Amino acid sequence: MRYNSSNDIRRFFSHVLVIGIFVCYFIGLIYMQFSSADYDSKAEDNYISYLRETPPRGEIFDRNGNYLVQNQVCYDLIITPYKVQQPFDTVQFAKITGVELFRLKRALKRLPAKSRDKTIIARRLSAEANLRLQESGIEGFTTKASTMRSYPRPVAAHLLGYIAEIDEKGLRYRASENFYEERDYIGKSGLEAEYEHQLRGEKGLIRYNRKEKIDEVMSPSVPGKDLICTIDGRLQEFAEELLKGKVGSVVAIEPSTGEILVMASSPTYDPNESSGPQWGNYYMQLLNHEVRRPLLNRTTKSSQPPGSTFKLVNALIGLQEGVLKPHYRYECNHGYHYGKIKMGCHPHASPLNLDYAIATSCNAYFCNVFRSILENKRYKSSKEGYEAWREYVESFGFGVELGVDFPNEISGYVPPRKFYDKRYHARWNALTILSLAIGQGELLCSTLQLANLAATIANRGYFYTPHTVRMIGKDSIGEEFRSRHYTKVEKQHFESVVKGMWRAVNVDGTCRAANLAGFDVCGKTGTSQNPKGDDHSTFVSFAPRNNPKIAIAAYIEHGRSGAEAAVPIASLIEELYLTDTIRRPALVDYVKNLKLNYWNAYDSKKKRVKKDV
Ligand SMILES: [Zn+2]
Repeated sequence: MRYNSSNDIRRFFSHVLVIGIFVCYFIGLIYMQFSSADYDSKAEDNYISYLRETPPRGEIFDRNGNYLVQNQVCYDLIITPYKVQQPFDTVQFAKITGVELFRLKRALKRLPAKSRDKTIIARRLSAEANLRLQESGIEGFTTKASTMRSYPRPVAAHLLGYIAEIDEKGLRYRASENFYEERDYIGKSGLEAEYEHQLRGEKGLIRYNRKEKIDEVMSPSVPGKDLICTIDGRLQEFAEELLKGKVGSVVAIEPSTGEILVMASSPTYDPNESSGPQWGNYYMQLLNHEVRRPLLNRTTKSSQPPGSTFKLVNALIGLQEGVLKPHYRYECNHGYHYGKIKMGCHPHASPLNLDYAIATSCNAYFCNVFRSILENKRYKSSKEGYEAWREYVESFGFGVELGVDFPNEISGYVPPRKFYDKRYHARWNALTILSLAIGQGELLCSTLQLANLAATIANRGYFYTPHTVRMIGKDSIGEEFRSRHYTKVEKQHFESVVKGMWRAVNVDGTCRAANLAGFDVCGKTGTSQNPKGDDHSTFVSFAPRNNPKIAIAAYIEHGRSGAEAAVPIASLIEELYLTDTIRRPALVDYVKNLKLNYWNAYDSKKKRVKKDV
């Protein structure tokens, strides 16, 4: 972790401030109550009420110690019904506290008027509302310091997730944990949900006597643990800026650790909205009426065909199986033609060898490679060859969950043999499923899996389970994130594929716009065919070629060719990470002004939705 003294100092003071307010508030309460003149020694015999103390939730920092999620002090509103004087002016009280009138009425209706129990009836009162309440002298209500989430750098909404009041179902489901009560907050998505147990801390218990005085802190609350993320906040912000107006996602990984540097999904929303009073309404609006689906985390939950980036996997399998050598040359006559099968290709020199085939993304070359894997004589049939091929593919993390520390990761899809047996009544061979040669057909994967492929090639054959958290409090993450997962392809076969990826960027390939002088960037574009509109644009890359620092995948829906959208976006992120600056402002402008056509996929539907409303 980079040492950053000003951040450390800022963090320290901010922590001290929040904890200080808690402590002062608490001491103040005890002092006021015990020093008051009507202290009644006989009350010791009459302990009647308890209140559980919720500690401040752990905060979340980026890899450089900058805040991603910060606590802000707010107040819980507590009622002791028997002390409330009648008649009670709910309208006036709602004005003072800022609690919505219907919530207030509902809470008051539910509680027996004679009850001496303390109950929290509203949370997240502002400091001003708290002060107004104290000054009003209204009896029967007290407040207790608490915290709410704020986001000084409003990024990574999908990654961080949000917290919300636990619902009845949640209360029932988690009853055995003996933690949650009505109106408690709980992580609902993203890291807030994944690390709920560590972030929430441990509740304390306070005993009150009959005179409503704090009698004893029976068990002190324990603050939640902070999370140090692997995310680079500045890089994340830049990625989100570049993705604005587009539909897609970017994932960047540090290959030597599996730490996720960027996890950006677009469209997104300001995470500060999730702390606001209107979040419920806003959430429903995002869920039901925004056809581009801003709540969907496209990095891990959206599956799409990998397109030509997948040719890298086929090359590696061919090399390992011994049916492909880097010097093997195949012809390409504007594509691959065999009987009735025609798979087109763009103009380029022919015949060509492996590294040029990767650089220029030749479809015909990889049709030959795919056939030679499945039709290998060591297997009794193409179907058996397919099963072997599938095992290789899975060893790269496709068609399986990678195990990222993040909820609801999808596995994508690599069809099992029986899928094709059923579809083609067992009459199929390599030619029937030739689209898999170029990453099309039934193959589906997430952007995270593509970034993991880039990291695997960067590492020449292994990956670490990608993860978003580096430290939980003072504890390191588990062993499962620190062990290598080897693919079924041996190290020596990777170099010729790396050579092709280097050539693609640096010599005569499809992604020369990703060139960064002095960094030997390696890359592979993809253009996934899309029957519903413009093709999807993909790019996987890592840099530098030796001792790589960053591996990245960008997937831009309807971005047309890989070079048009995904390459410049991923390349600028690589540039900022590797050089700490942007020397190509014109490319940034190009990306920001890039207009993509979402009419067929999204925008035409928006009109329909509007009519329905
Ligand atoms: Zn070709």
